Amino acid sequence: MRKNKAIGIDIDAVLADSDPVFIKELQQITGKEFIRTKETPFKYEDAFGIDEDTMNIFWDTFTRKNGWIDIPVLSGAVEAVKLLHEEYHIAIVSARPQVLETQTVKWLELNNIPFDEIFFTDFEDKAQKLSHLDELEYFLEDNPIFIMDLIKRGVHILLFDYPWNQNFTDPGVTRVFGWEDVYKLFFKSNRAR
Ligand SMILES: [Mg+2]
Repeated sequence: MRKNKAIGIDIDAVLADSDPVFIKELQQITGKEFIRTKETPFKYEDAFGIDEDTMNIFWDTFTRKNGWIDIPVLSGAVEAVKLLHEEYHIAIVSARPQVLETQTVKWLELNNIPFDEIFFTDFEDKAQKLSHLDELEYFLEDNPIFIMDLIKRGVHILLFDYPWNQNFTDPGVTRVFGWEDVYKLFFKSNRAR
């Protein structure tokens, strides 16, 4: 039965602890030491000072070796999403390109993360994929650039705290420091419901 409220959830840096995986691999390839700060550019090619072609080769190689399958899940994510799924229709919306659908869905299944729908935006704003969900109440994200239209639509954003979003504030956005915070917001107080 379709639930009467919905929540949208990002993958990288929200469900999947992807950034440390990419940093480790890029450090090995480039031989560069790397410490992320709030000044570090979000895109890896800018952060590591490598050109776009080299970066595309990195992504292709990572995909061919099924690297997406082995990315760890963020602590507490599986338990919290299972509980949320009891009440909410869950739409997973990733900025990853569509070509990663098979590996991404397999990753979700392997990690027992429940969802009702999944969309890939290829770096476009996520609102366009969610226009059919009138009941969308929340979106969990780490990168504000992908959700500006959702904020305008009045969807309440839970923003996972990272160096790359330190300068972002908005009245519709609540900063969270991991899934423990999400769990508390939904299940230990009345604030989120
Ligand atoms: Mg993300």
